[in-house]
Formats: sequence, C-alpha cells, structure tokens
Amino acid sequence: MANDIIAAIATPPGRGGVGIVRISGPHLESLLEKLVGRHVPPRHATAADFRAVDGAPIDRGLVLFFPAPRSYTGEDVIELQAHGGPVVMQLLLQRCFELGACAAEPGEFTRRAFLNDRIDLAQAEAIADLIDAATVEAARCAMRSLQGHFSREVRDLVSSLVNLRAQIEATFDFPEEEHIVALEQARVQRTLETLHAKLEGLLVASSQGSLLREGVRVVLAGHPNVGKSSLLNRLAGESLAIVTDIPGTTRDAIRQTINMAGIPFHMVDTAGLREPKNEIEKIGISIAYDEISKADIVLWVSDIARPETRAQAVEAKHKPLMKAKQIRVENKVDLTKTHPTLYKAENVIEVSVSATTGAGIELLRTAILEMIGWSSHGEEGIYMARARHLEALRQAATCLTQAIAQTRQPELLAEELRLAQSALSRITGEFTSDDLLGEIFSRFCIGK
Ligand code: GDP
Repeated sequence: MANDIIAAIATPPGRGGVGIVRISGPHLESLLEKLVGRHVPPRHATAADFRAVDGAPIDRGLVLFFPAPRSYTGEDVIELQAHGGPVVMQLLLQRCFELGACAAEPGEFTRRAFLNDRIDLAQAEAIADLIDAATVEAARCAMRSLQGHFSREVRDLVSSLVNLRAQIEATFDFPEEEHIVALEQARVQRTLETLHAKLEGLLVASSQGSLLREGVRVVLAGHPNVGKSSLLNRLAGESLAIVTDIPGTTRDAIRQTINMAGIPFHMVDTAGLREPKNEIEKIGISIAYDEISKADIVLWVSDIARPETRAQAVEAKHKPLMKAKQIRVENKVDLTKTHPTLYKAENVIEVSVSATTGAGIELLRTAILEMIGWSSHGEEGIYMARARHLEALRQAATCLTQAIAQTRQPELLAEELRLAQSALSRITGEFTSDDLLGEIFSRFCIGK
C-alpha cells in the first residue's frame, strides 16, 4: 500500500485562482515526463502544459517536483498548480489516475510523512490542528507544536527517563555496597522529583492548549425575556476576533461561537426550564436538559428586577448528568441603579450585569475564564494538546509518583519508569497501533 502512488486535489472544492493537485509515491520522474512532456528540475517552479493522454493540454500552470527524501512525505512529490476550477482539477486528477496513481485517503500524505520519519505523530496532529484552528491563538499554538517544541519537551523527558533507568539497573549489580546504594537512592529521588515537576508543568501547558483546541461549551438557561439573547450578543460583540466553526464540533443548537482570550466558546441558548405548558415547550425543555448535560458551563440568567425568574434548578433526576460548572447571572442591573457585583460561594458564582449597557460584562468574562482554569499569561508557552496527549502525560505523572514512593525497591522503580517512558513515547508515536493511526489520520482532509 505504502508503495502506491497517490494523488488528490489539495485545495478546497469550489472555484479559485489556483488549484493544486498533489501526487506522492516512489519514482515519479516518468509519470512527470508523461504529464508535462519535458524534464522538470527538482525544487524549481517550472511553467508547463499539463497534458491529456492524446497530448492535448488540459491546462498550463506551474509544476514543482520534490524528489525523495527531501519532500513533505519523504517520497517523490509532485505539485501541479493549475487554474482552480472544479473541471480542470478533476481532469488533472483523472490524468494522474490514468498514469497509475490511486486516490489518496484523508490524511494519507501526512501519514506517509509520519511513517517516513519526516515528522512525529504530535507534529502530524499539529498540522490538522493548524488547519482547523478557530482562533489566532490556536493557530499560533498549533504552529509551535508543528515546529516540534512540544515533541522536544516530551523527548527530553523520555531521554531523562532512559538515563535514569540505565543508572538504576547498574546499581542492581552492586547490592552489597550499601553506602553506594544509599547515595544513589538520594540522587535518584532528587532526579525523580525534578522530572515529576517538569511533567506537571507540561501537563498544565497542555491542558491550556486543549482549551484552545476544543473550546468550551456554554449553555445560557433562564426564563423567557430575562435577556439571554442580549447577553449572548453583548459577549459576542465584545470578543475582538471573529471565530470560525471548528469542523466536527458544531452542532445545530449552537447559536454562536465567540472568542474570549483566543478560546472558542460554543454558546447555546436554551428554553427556560419551567413546568411545560404544552407539547412543544416540553420538547424544548428536553432539548435544554440535553444541552445542559453536555455543557462545560451553564449560565443561569435571571432578571434582577423580577426575582421570580431566579428560580432555576435542574430537576433532581437530571443532576447526575450535569458535569457543568455554574454561574448565576443577574441581568438588567441597570434597572436597579446599582453597580455590578461579583459574589463567589463554594459551589456557585453570582454576577450581576447589564446586557444593555455592558456593565459587569468584564466581571462575567473574567469569572468564566477563571472557571475553566485559563491563565492570563496568554498562549505563549502552551501547547496544542489533544485528549490522548493529556491522558499519556497524566499516566506518566502517576507512574513517576509511584516511582518516587519506591526508591528502595529498584526493580519496581525501574518498572514504573519503563511504564512512564512508554506512555510518553505514545505521544510522539514511537509505539502506536495501526488503529490509532487510522483514527488520527482519517480526520484529516483529503490532499493533506
Ligand atoms: P431572552 O428571551 O432571555 O433571550 O431575552 P432578550 O435578550 O430577548 O431580552 C428581552 C428583553 O429584555 C428585551 O426587550 C431586551 O431589550 C431587554 N433587556 C435585555 N437585557 C437587558 C438589560 O441588561 N437591561 C435592560 N434594561 N433591558 C434588557
């Protein structure tokens, strides 16, 4: 399979000034000659006619040839930059198929880049994250992972673990030299603690990155007319950049995705949770419960001038479903002629705001960001992490904690270090199953 020649249209469907067809595989010189009828020097933009089987030109454009191994995939790669119309693109792709290429699967170019050691798995994932980035901050963060900063930190940890394992295994050989063993134990303990601290730091930085990537689901709940839509508009109006939807995360109920501090917040407006008066309202309320069960944060919005709108509670039978953190928002504070306030109790935060004047909105925004654990240092030094990275980092941290408790038992200690090492190595893809690779790359776009 990996020896096949693959081809795909790399630019999005539709019409554009330029469209790109990309080909990868072994020994593409002869295919290239047949396609353009001339020799193409490597790594130069060459103007050429792209020819059909009878020699008639399909289009004229630029051709780029990257011989293996210095190419995106590590194989020979050809890029045809033609006029970006759907018919031209299809004709060129068909021509590639006639010349022996088959259709590339989603992410297959990047998968080959990974299999040929051009990039590691975390970098491959960063490419998809860069393409899917919903905010400027997320894009910058993905780019840092693509450059290998995240992978380097992971590899540094792995190599420290390998060194430590070697030292520990060496001490097995001298069990009778007690003073050496004691000295070693103290040193190993210190090294382990340093490594654990580094790992925890990496975990914090990655958790922040995962917020940038996944975004946060916020549900606005409350009686009709308390100002939920106005509040949503106010929050959206004050977010500085426009956010694009992240493919795969958008669902019907989402009214708007807004950007706060670079994090995409997927905002859902719901029906009030009162006793349903009719069938339609019943359906609306059941949808609201469903949304609340999926939310990260619920904003219970009420009208400060109408205390009866405050009574909002999730019914007991739905409570177990609710993992969301909660904020009570008392809207229309302008009607009371008082200043907005923020009140924090153990289980709930209460903020008074005015969607009309904007008073208190900054308090609310800060409360939301604090609630999700966003640090105000911005995105510098954080990594675009996926759930599987966080899981691996957590697993490695647990192993190191166990290891620290076992410095007097070198065999157990060494085993914990081995487990920590293999958890970390899964991030960069040293030990990765085909299933996982399939899952990761199938989410890419075709042509990438
Ligand atoms: P929803 O039904 O909960 O989405 O409420 P809306 O956002 O549609 O607002 C209902 C009414 O309340 C509208 O007439 C808004 O202009 C008004 N409203 C919303 N927020 C405020 C506010 O902060 N202060 C005042 N005075 N009126 C508001």
